Amino acid sequence: MAKPSFRNNTKRYCDLKSYWMNRFGCRVQKLPLDAGFTCPNRDGRLSVGGCIYCDGRGPALRQAGPLPSVGEQVRRGIAFYRGRGKAVKFIAYFQTFTNTYAPVEKLKALYDEALAEADVVGLSIGTRPDCVPDETLDLIRSYAERYHVWLEFGLQSIHDRTLGAINRGHDAATFLDAVRRASGGPLLICVHIIVGLPGETRAEMLETARVLAGLPIHGIKIHSLLALEGTALGERRRRGELDLMTREAYVETVCDILELLPPEMVIQRLTAEGYRDIFLGPAWAGNKLAVLGAIDRELERRDSLQGARYNKGGTEQR
Ligand code: SF4
Repeated sequence: MAKPSFRNNTKRYCDLKSYWMNRFGCRVQKLPLDAGFTCPNRDGRLSVGGCIYCDGRGPALRQAGPLPSVGEQVRRGIAFYRGRGKAVKFIAYFQTFTNTYAPVEKLKALYDEALAEADVVGLSIGTRPDCVPDETLDLIRSYAERYHVWLEFGLQSIHDRTLGAINRGHDAATFLDAVRRASGGPLLICVHIIVGLPGETRAEMLETARVLAGLPIHGIKIHSLLALEGTALGERRRRGELDLMTREAYVETVCDILELLPPEMVIQRLTAEGYRDIFLGPAWAGNKLAVLGAIDRELERRDSLQGARYNKGGTEQR
């Protein structure tokens, strides 16, 4: 099967790095930022425990003490990547916790601060589907008219039974409503899902992909389930009550998902790592490059591509 020419990349899927290289003509780097937000699933508005896989610590920067300003974080990030000759333009990535969980005036000040730095060409804003009132979407849309702007929704699964079991604090209908309200304009929408959530069958995981394939979204992050110390999930793992996916099953499921997604959907992530100090498994997830290589090889073995089983009309190709 031939790779679509627009991708101009070495992958059998539309990877973010190539997408940006095609769009901007240069290497673009995301700069992860911690703007000091919290999360309604942690501060008591919905719950204090959070999602069962969330350790709630935030990144090392937050753990180290008072946070530098957003502008300072952006400048440090640019200097870091420039020093290594790795990027020319940058996307300010509001990553930690729920980055729309504040009044619009405060959000505007933070987003403006990030965009004030030279060579920051856009924003990527991570949030929950129940934290995007219309006035917040209007603000983010106003940036999307001038910059390259992604809104990233944590969803994890389209199944309400799973969302309840992992204590997400929102349902699928809330997510679908958020996508409907955010779509139709210049704003780019990315959705995060987790493969291997407890109690889900592979058929249910693929159903999440099928639903997303039919929505007006532009990107996806696919994450393996990680068991971390200090989380409810980690506790279950320690007690021997949690089976985690094998690498083979993860790779096969991710390839199935890629085949179901639209060929132009940007694949922003295919695996996860990090959290080395509290990581409880699965062990294979600690080697991100090996997981990505296995996905490449599986698509090659199948002679398949992202979108191979996608049908715009909603009927799966076989
Ligand atoms: S929504 Fe995100 S930050 Fe909030 S509890 Fe869940 S994983 Fe943690």
